Amino acid sequence: MTKFALVCGAGGFIGNHLVRRLKTEGFWVRGVDLKFPEFGETEADDFVVGDLREQRVVDAVIDRRYDEVYQLAADMGGAGYIFTGEHDADIMHNSATINLGVVDRAHKRNIRRIFYSSSACMYPAYNQEDPDNPNCKESSAYPAAPDSEYGWEKLFSERLFLAYNRNHGMSNRVARYHNIFGPEGTWTGGKEKAPAAVCRKVAMAANNGEIEIWGDGNQTRSFLYIDECIEGTIRLTRSEFEGPVNVGSDEMVTINQLVEIVSDIAGKTLHKNHVPGPLGVRGRNSHNQLIEEKLGWRPTQSLRKGLEATYAWIETQVRRNAA
Ligand code: NAD
Repeated sequence: MTKFALVCGAGGFIGNHLVRRLKTEGFWVRGVDLKFPEFGETEADDFVVGDLREQRVVDAVIDRRYDEVYQLAADMGGAGYIFTGEHDADIMHNSATINLGVVDRAHKRNIRRIFYSSSACMYPAYNQEDPDNPNCKESSAYPAAPDSEYGWEKLFSERLFLAYNRNHGMSNRVARYHNIFGPEGTWTGGKEKAPAAVCRKVAMAANNGEIEIWGDGNQTRSFLYIDECIEGTIRLTRSEFEGPVNVGSDEMVTINQLVEIVSDIAGKTLHKNHVPGPLGVRGRNSHNQLIEEKLGWRPTQSLRKGLEATYAWIETQVRRNAA
């Protein structure tokens, strides 16, 4: 029997990859987003261009029961978008409105389970001041003190989905994604994340040239390759565990190390020029004990392998843009 899935945010980076994966599994997939995917055609059977802040759009796409519903739509961006403070009201209003509308409509259509993508940005800033020793254990979330309104909204919405579990018999699933990267992600324009920004800068730099890095480059992060993000998402959705659980890599690197790996992949020697810029917390790394315990699975692919695929794709984009 055909299975039906709804992907909210299907025009985005992760949503587009998720649609592709569900299609390989034989699902009939409906996608909804403000826009079609930026790179390549969507593989969704039905794609609705619509604004999920509008209840009539939510009602129209959740017009039947689905076997799986993924809620990835959010107003988001890289450090250049989230941490300047200029978009705080939009980020909170837009994303919360989407989540409030989607979960309530699903409940009223007797849909039991929605996967919701929260973010590591909801972890308290005070646990992420030491770049060598950040604490992102799931149980460290409270007392809450995210460093951005984006993180506060994620925390609110994960509580919202779990409250529907407690009060309305739903069995929603909540993952906390940590820095997802890969081909077909935003790579320019201000909303791109560190791996894409570094790949672009390295691809554009001449050998023995210079590369600009925000801050001293000693801030630490981990980055999860898109295929493993999709795997974790699907495994959690189909599991008996509601979360919240980290879906991230625990291979922590400094931004300087990230630049060195990408330069090495590109075969370039580059001088690092440290400039002021929005930075976020000093350190962040996924803690993967809980996912291993509950799902018997954790991401294991090396950062370098994912960067090789991502660099190859971004280098092609850079060359195409220059032509
Ligand atoms: P993305 O920006 O590429 O995708 C989000 C999509 O939501 C976009 O295509 C956007 O157009 C759509 N959207 C925004 N407002 C909408 C609206 N009003 N109606 C309909 N669609 C709307 O981001 P992504 O990287 O694919 O992230 C997907 C989800 O994962 C988001 O909820 C994000 O917060 C979360 N997340 C991502 C990361 C990451 O590293 N990429 C990390 C943590 C959490």
